[in-house]
Amino acid sequence: MSDLTEDLRGILEEDRIASDVFERLLYGHDLVSLPPLLAKVYKSLPDVVVRPGNAEQIAAIVRLALKRKTPIVPRGSSTSPTGGSMPVFGGIAMDLSGMDRILGLDDGESTVQVEPGLIWEHLERYLAGQGLALNTYPTSAPSSTVAGWVAGSGLGYGVGGVGVGTSKYGPIADNVTSLQVVLPSGETVDIPSGDYAVGDFIGTDGILGIITRVGLKVRKQPAVVKSGAFAFETVPDLCHAIDRLSQSVRVYFSEFEDRTLGEMKGSADVPVHGSGNVLSVTLDGDEETVSSDLSKLHQIVRECNGQTLGEALGEEIWTERFNPLQIKRGGPSLLSSEFNVATARLNEALAGLARIGEKHRVQVGTLGILLKDSVNLLPMVLNDERKRFGYTLSVGITKAFNDLALELNGTPYGVGLFNAFYSREIHGARLEKLKLLKKKLDPQNIMNPGKSMKHMTRYGIALPRSLYGATMRSFGMLERLGVGKS
Ligand SMILES: Cc1cc2nc3c(=O)[nH]c(=O)nc-3n(C[C@H](O)[C@H](O)[C@H](O)COP(=O)(O)OP(=O)(O)OC[C@H]3O[C@@H](n4cnc5c(N)ncnc54)[C@H](O)[C@@H]3O)c2cc1C
Repeated sequence: MSDLTEDLRGILEEDRIASDVFERLLYGHDLVSLPPLLAKVYKSLPDVVVRPGNAEQIAAIVRLALKRKTPIVPRGSSTSPTGGSMPVFGGIAMDLSGMDRILGLDDGESTVQVEPGLIWEHLERYLAGQGLALNTYPTSAPSSTVAGWVAGSGLGYGVGGVGVGTSKYGPIADNVTSLQVVLPSGETVDIPSGDYAVGDFIGTDGILGIITRVGLKVRKQPAVVKSGAFAFETVPDLCHAIDRLSQSVRVYFSEFEDRTLGEMKGSADVPVHGSGNVLSVTLDGDEETVSSDLSKLHQIVRECNGQTLGEALGEEIWTERFNPLQIKRGGPSLLSSEFNVATARLNEALAGLARIGEKHRVQVGTLGILLKDSVNLLPMVLNDERKRFGYTLSVGITKAFNDLALELNGTPYGVGLFNAFYSREIHGARLEKLKLLKKKLDPQNIMNPGKSMKHMTRYGIALPRSLYGATMRSFGMLERLGVGKS
């Protein structure tokens, strides 16, 4: 068969193709560093990298890949930690970050049309200039792309990611009005269409097609935005306040840091906001609503034995919302596994995380983001991947976090590759629909194969969940014996 790169030259300009090994190496991982022995079970190095400039080029590349039965792995900024944009079988890494134009406002300025690689923060800044705002965006907004978040699986198929504004305006699925997608056949479809709903292509990890355009809901900028910060001595008091808040106030954004995370930050020389368990809340709307919500908030804090730390600190935490991982500075590596639990079970979740920390003899600091009736938790453990044995062994703690989520009827957050063991829990009943559509649209399995449904390896064998924790531990033992060191 002819050379893949040569065939791509018939579709793309030379500077849109990279076959140099150093450049390809950059496309062989996402945010997460895999322990070297574990990395060997994936063919994560793509054969070639392409940076298409429009939907026509994408459709032509997809048709070529189909003819050659070569995998295509779509990629935005690769800020995800679940391996969704990391190749499992090599193939074509498709970098969409160059398609980053704002195509315009429509429907009486209630929606905006954008290309897939647009950075969220650039869009929010453009909208602010028009007196408008996004309903929701991820806290990775300064670096992540619109389609990367739309495709990312977050709370599962048809729901997707949660972030700033989700507690008030819902997850990304509630905020996408239209999509253009290049299907694995090479056909371009505008959705909603007779055959497909927008939700069919949200939270898929990119296994059903390449998103080439996104329509998003926008709103008028709120008249008032106010933040506050509060400290709670005990975890039960913090959880009680969060539970009451979720029932009586529609907050725009609220997050908390537990005491351990504050202590870890202190040791890592990262700014600490007050002592104890610190809750920050941002409210938006008209003057009257915000002021009435603020009174309710202060009353809840008082009745739950909290202490008010003030508006200035609230503003500071709000400004720092884009830095949830700044604690990494104390690592240099960070082990984490995000999960979602019902607000009513938050107290049990935080107690469970403390127990895991004691068992593994590490500090587990937790950041939480409040949603409508659940909380997304990001437990974090500092580590050092340069100490290969220790790092490999400790990776297993992420499984303990996921097990805790399942024990509490919650779910790990995001499927991608690394959480594909939990696809049934994360996608729920919608997994069957995803499987059916995958079979119908991509019978040759060229579109981001190995993701979102089963945890596949380069050998075409799915890794069962039961092997996961044991595998991590035995990789640690092998590393100790020097196996796999090159
Ligand atoms: C500091 C930080 C904060 C974060 N905060 C949040 C948060 O608040 N909420 C949250 O959900 N996540 C968060 N994340 C995780 C991640 O940043 C987001 O999920 C982000 O939106 C992913 O965008 P990306 O451009 O990096 O996509 P990538 O990581 O490149 O891709 C994500 C998935 O989408 C697929 N994909 C990418 N582009 C396309 C396309 N055009 N068509 C089809 N499939 C495509 C990829 O194959 C992959 O499966 C955070 C990460 C960091 C580092």
